[in-house]
Amino acid sequence: MFFKNDAQYLYILLDVLGCQVADGEEYFGIEVDVDRDKSVTPYTDTCFRVRHDLKGDLYRRLYTKPLVGGETRVLTTTSEMATGFGPSFNDTRRDHRIWELALNLEEIGADPTSWWGSDDRPPVVRMGLWVRSTPEEGGFVDEAPEGWRMAPPGRDFADLLEISLATQPKFPETLIGPVFLGVGFETTAPTIAAAIISARDKGLHNFFVFSAHKLIPPALSALLATEGSSIDGLILPGHVSVIIGTGAYLRLVEDYHVPCAVAGFEPVDILQAVHVLVEQLEKKSAHLENCYPRAVTFDGNKKAQQVMETVFKKVDALWRGLGTIPRSGLCIRDEFSAYDAQKAFDVSLPQAEDPQGCICGDILTGKKTPPQCPLYRTVCTPVDPVGPCMVSSEGTCAAFYRYHTA
Ligand code: SF4
Repeated sequence: MFFKNDAQYLYILLDVLGCQVADGEEYFGIEVDVDRDKSVTPYTDTCFRVRHDLKGDLYRRLYTKPLVGGETRVLTTTSEMATGFGPSFNDTRRDHRIWELALNLEEIGADPTSWWGSDDRPPVVRMGLWVRSTPEEGGFVDEAPEGWRMAPPGRDFADLLEISLATQPKFPETLIGPVFLGVGFETTAPTIAAAIISARDKGLHNFFVFSAHKLIPPALSALLATEGSSIDGLILPGHVSVIIGTGAYLRLVEDYHVPCAVAGFEPVDILQAVHVLVEQLEKKSAHLENCYPRAVTFDGNKKAQQVMETVFKKVDALWRGLGTIPRSGLCIRDEFSAYDAQKAFDVSLPQAEDPQGCICGDILTGKKTPPQCPLYRTVCTPVDPVGPCMVSSEGTCAAFYRYHTA
């Protein structure tokens, strides 16, 4: 359960890990001691509910008696609710119920115009909560998060939990703004670099980028340089090549003497790339062929390269399954550090560990094929991937899963 507030709403995330039935009939109730007097004040204290037979609708009532029990008819409310079912950062492996609520502060007695009460204490909201499922749903037993108390019928509000509200933003106003997650390769990096330049030119001070970009040529070099690597040839990505040009791969061919073909994305493009690689292998030659000349040139897109170079600099980066590869990532240059989320905010990310049993490194270097991984098709599938090669449809294991039927 997570809370945040601004001056209008109290936002509540109910992450119900135990509720794993997509069309289950679970429901919840929130009760609020609006005047914070630890008793049920008729026609003042309120409750919010969602019911399995009113799925998707949040409704509000006032209590009518000095104990929990009697309630008015359903009132109009400006509070809102959204329901989801899927993984969350609390549990990425299993789908479960997620409710998101925005409770209007005025409806729960937290008047933003007078944040501080007469006792000079920050504003608090007194609440109780319960979550239930119908018995036949099974597997879901929690009735309230740890530490939470609800008032059963016939009881008062003596034991509800107090939530302190924030009266001012945690960050200065100049630090409140969107953080854009910069992921991808040379394909996406230029547009994000251009966005940063545009933000600077417009004098924006509340736009941030978390750069996690990676570069293809150093990764290919690392694959080929790995001891025991068994790669006969490389189909080079057309979209990356549009930006960096075929010239960016020449070192690769010279250093490792490996056949290379830049390919487009139509089936015939891939077939042509495979054809030229086989031809090179049969002739025992190794050079670079551009099978996507309608989009890729030798020099690539110089404007995009220049924009990237202006904003980013190369840094060592960690690749799942391959380890750290020198100068294979992009970070934001000091001149643009005002837009760098990693510098603006105190963010420390845990090191991504390679999943136990996953042999992605061996698969990427051609030492093994996906069926040789003990997790392949058993616990690792495109729907529930374990390692990085199964995550995207372009991943080796995911492609093998989809197209290799033997
Ligand atoms: S099948 Fe899954 S766990 Fe095994 S190598 Fe591929 S991605 Fe990794």
